[in-house]
Amino acid sequence: MIDIQHRKKTFGENEVLKDISATVNKGQVICIIGPSGSGKSTFLRCLNVLEHPTAGKIVFDGTDLASLKDGKELDQLREKMGMVFQNFNLFPNMNVIENVKLAPMKVKGVSEKEAEQKGLELLEKVGLADRAKQFPASLSGGQQQRVAIARALAMDPEVMLFDEPTSALDPEMVGEILKTMQDLANSGMTMVIVTHEMGFAREVADEIWFMADGYLQEKGTPEEVFEHPTSDRAKDFLSKVL
Ligand code: ATP
Ligand code: MG
Repeated sequence: MIDIQHRKKTFGENEVLKDISATVNKGQVICIIGPSGSGKSTFLRCLNVLEHPTAGKIVFDGTDLASLKDGKELDQLREKMGMVFQNFNLFPNMNVIENVKLAPMKVKGVSEKEAEQKGLELLEKVGLADRAKQFPASLSGGQQQRVAIARALAMDPEVMLFDEPTSALDPEMVGEILKTMQDLANSGMTMVIVTHEMGFAREVADEIWFMADGYLQEKGTPEEVFEHPTSDRAKDFLSKVL
């Protein structure tokens, strides 16, 4: 579904992604782990071309996104990738259901009635049907993040990208987000998740990618990467976080 080939990204002198090749298959759940500053967020932003590549290809549904300039074609492909950020990024001046139905109406031309109905179904799914008319500021962090997930799902994405979706949350709210993500994984959604939640990664991921020093140093099943890491870099990292 997504094929990343020799992907590089530099910021000035800083070579953040050095040479990354990997494949995301339909229905797979991939968790990306690695030390702070190793380029995990940059990599995720490269997947949907929020960052333009310095070199390399990223083939999504048969099209090399890296070759496209900002514009309609790129936007249409980006719409198929839902993204959830650490800090929720909800529109503060809109209530919950307005947040969820905005993009389908604006971008896809879905009727308000249809967007509302679908939005309410998605809120139901994330356990927030009774909060539709509340504003983001009146919700807990965990609830806001569930709205953000519903909002991303409202666009019917083919893949969901998550950048540390639980790291801005109070500890007691982490579980509800992980549960929501696990349900999504069980429903067959393709997911790429940057996370520090090693227990979740071990349980839910089909593959773990360990990123450090600009490379994907390890790729494998949770058992392979957690129990039998091969690189010193991964051994060192895992000895600190497990
Ligand atoms: P963390 O776990 O702390 O979130 P990360 O693995 O997500 O870290 P990135 O945020 O991708 O790491 O950053 C990797 C490197 O790229 C850092 O050195 C950072 O300073 C640099 N970087 C990221 N975005 C930019 C940018 N827009 N301009 C310049 N440098 C950037
Ligand atoms: Mg990051």
